[in-house]
Amino acid sequence: METEKTEILIIGGGIAGCIAAISLIDTYQVTLLDKLPEPTERIGESLAPASQRILKQLDLLEGLENQVGTLYQKNMGMQSYWGNDQVHLVDDLRNPDGFVKNLDRQAFETYLRKTAEARGVRCLWGSKLHSSSYENARWQVQLMASETSLSTSTISASFVIDASGRQSHFARSLGIKRQVEDRLVACWVTLPNTKTNTMSTISASENGWWYSAVIPGNKRVVAFHTDADLVAKSELKTTASFLELAKGNPVMWSLLGEHENAIAFKGTVAANSTKLEQVAGQQWVALGDAALSFDPLSSQGMYNAMAGAMQLQALLVQYGFTETLQKIHTEQTENIWQHYLRHKGIFYQAETRWKESAFWKRRFETDHCD
Ligand SMILES: Cc1cc2nc3c(=O)[nH]c(=O)nc-3n(C[C@H](O)[C@H](O)[C@H](O)COP(=O)(O)OP(=O)(O)OC[C@H]3O[C@@H](n4cnc5c(N)ncnc54)[C@H](O)[C@@H]3O)c2cc1C
Repeated sequence: METEKTEILIIGGGIAGCIAAISLIDTYQVTLLDKLPEPTERIGESLAPASQRILKQLDLLEGLENQVGTLYQKNMGMQSYWGNDQVHLVDDLRNPDGFVKNLDRQAFETYLRKTAEARGVRCLWGSKLHSSSYENARWQVQLMASETSLSTSTISASFVIDASGRQSHFARSLGIKRQVEDRLVACWVTLPNTKTNTMSTISASENGWWYSAVIPGNKRVVAFHTDADLVAKSELKTTASFLELAKGNPVMWSLLGEHENAIAFKGTVAANSTKLEQVAGQQWVALGDAALSFDPLSSQGMYNAMAGAMQLQALLVQYGFTETLQKIHTEQTENIWQHYLRHKGIFYQAETRWKESAFWKRRFETDHCD
């Protein structure tokens, strides 16, 4: 079988992988692969305003803003029911980086993939990591076609970036484990939006918290977040069981109650906070969710993936594939993680109504606040 050579191989063409590829293509020969032939519909739409600086730096912002209404819609702010029954409004009117953008995630990821291709990144869609070995100071990475599970090719790379998301497939194949902070999951649905108020909404309840946002196509996403062991699996399986849970939260019930027949149940995904125990090694690093996965309450996952990619690009340009790069990347990632844990603690501890319920008790007992 023929072996292709590349300088940097990026495993995972999500936000972290695409931004890393686009930022590195002027300096290195880059190959980017993803197991999915094309992006699929997924939850995770709020793009933090600071991300726009990165998109601008990479000449991606104008292309995004030209597609308002299809790629994203402006988020007018957040109404939050957290800590008491009163609504608390947060908007970005005075934020110098502008408003949050509510993305169509599938369309945004397609936009990033197309830009990577157009800028000269060698892209292999529908190919997944099968196995790898380190030989003669290079990584030999075997790929497999996702659809047929047949081994297709080998790529020889000087450096590997694991951007495969919270599964961190490359690092995991090296035997590296993840530190797991909690068991948060998110169960989500979509439905047509019928309200004129398009602010996002967050609302705490006894066993977790709810979230709703309006995305392009006048569609609404609604998600319930709880710990996997606190609800029976059957309660997170169907529209009917989702609606039963929503009845306990009047704010969400007012969005969902009249639309039972228009709700599309999407499933339950992992949403817990985890950290890869080792985020860099001999000629490889982990990036984005592969390194650190955040609680969706933070709405920082995409920003972290982008900012991490930019920091890594600067390190790769300055230090190449060296131990210094590994050391600095490890320190930077650890600093972000510590900062994140402190903030997560502060946010959860602001909700004191159900201190004795298991969901909130756990979040009070893990004290990361200084
Ligand atoms: C419920 C929920 C809500 C969220 N809401 C928000 C939000 O509002 N705002 C926000 O900023 N963030 C949000 N996030 C977080 C955000 O989605 C992630 O932080 C972001 O997707 C991380 O990007 P990534 O590129 O690191 O990983 P991913 O987006 O997971 O991309 C990884 C890519 O790797 C590919 N891949 C995986 N394994 C392999 C393999 N073996 N071989 C090849 N390819 C592979 C996958 O197909 C995928 O395309 C949310 C997350 C959850 C769970």
